[in-house]
Amino acid sequence: MTTPTIELKPSASPLSAAERDAILVAPGFGRHFTDHMVTIRWTEGRGWHDGQLVPYGPLSLDPANMTLHYAQEIFEGLKAYRQPDGSVATFRPEKNATRFQASARRLGMPELPVETFIEACDVLVRQDAAWVPAHGGEESLYLRPFMIATEVGLGVKPANEYLFLVIASPAGAYFPGGVRPVSIWLSEDRVRAVPGGVGDAKTGGNYAASLLAQAEAAAKGCEQVCYLDAVEHRWVEELGGMNLYFVYGDRIVTPGLTGSILEGVTRDSLLTVARDLGYTAEEGRVSVEQWQRDAENGSLTEVFACGTAAVITPVGTVKRESAEWRQSGGEPGEVTLKLRSALLDVQRGITPDRHGWMHRL
Ligand code: PMP
Repeated sequence: MTTPTIELKPSASPLSAAERDAILVAPGFGRHFTDHMVTIRWTEGRGWHDGQLVPYGPLSLDPANMTLHYAQEIFEGLKAYRQPDGSVATFRPEKNATRFQASARRLGMPELPVETFIEACDVLVRQDAAWVPAHGGEESLYLRPFMIATEVGLGVKPANEYLFLVIASPAGAYFPGGVRPVSIWLSEDRVRAVPGGVGDAKTGGNYAASLLAQAEAAAKGCEQVCYLDAVEHRWVEELGGMNLYFVYGDRIVTPGLTGSILEGVTRDSLLTVARDLGYTAEEGRVSVEQWQRDAENGSLTEVFACGTAAVITPVGTVKRESAEWRQSGGEPGEVTLKLRSALLDVQRGITPDRHGWMHRL
């Protein structure tokens, strides 16, 4: 099978530089999209077709499109950062490409070759490079590759045709007013994922299933939900869209990959960055009781969440049905902030890329 090529069919009416710059002043997250998108079809028998870069715009879907009914859908999220020399680089796109393949396998969808995934992102970022915010701050261009089933019909089965797309959205700094801890609701009854389920796949259904728990957390005055394992309701897994790290002095621990948590690219990168900085970084198991006890006796010095969107977010207040406590006096911890700058500095090209993580376009 030959690797698909991507034909350029750019927009005849992209936004003007002035309109684009007005958006880039305060883009928020996921509200504005660049001028183009990439699409690549897959059909049974033929496999991946050649792709196209086309103007960003609506898709036309039959009401009986299978994705709309049975949610055979997967997605990814990664960022392109402006480098000090004005060039643009994406962060570890091959990790997103291989995770996309793993999600595809789990959802019975065709696997997009890693090099095609990266090329599709590159083609879009090159075309819409003016949308990548300037070097200096924490702003970036967020890329959203995704794949949907396009077969029409109501039979429950893997579809016989699919559409892969990449869209891009400028992302402002996650903490425009300075890094601020988030509050967390420990959900002891609702679960996000079960053993043998799809928790380690990046598929829309996982997020649909998290919305009620998220609303309940908000009702308890918390910003994020922390999920526990589905069997014992005891072992800490992750937040709705971020992995977790526990800091014990100069040792950091993140829940191991049990199959029901998402293998975050940021989580993986931090194991390495932390070791580079002289910390001990481990995967392990942390129970809710241990979390509460160690926070209360002071041995658990900090807790933070990590993911592409915020890079690292300190955890402040933690609430469960029976108790409430505050991490690090409710302030961002020292290790948290040190790791955050270390990783962001690699992404923004401020410190040398020792591990070959930056993919320059
Ligand atoms: N867990 C979940 C459930 C997520 O949706 C994300 C965001 N992709 C993460 C963790 C963090 O993963 P990453 O560091 O690759 O963004």
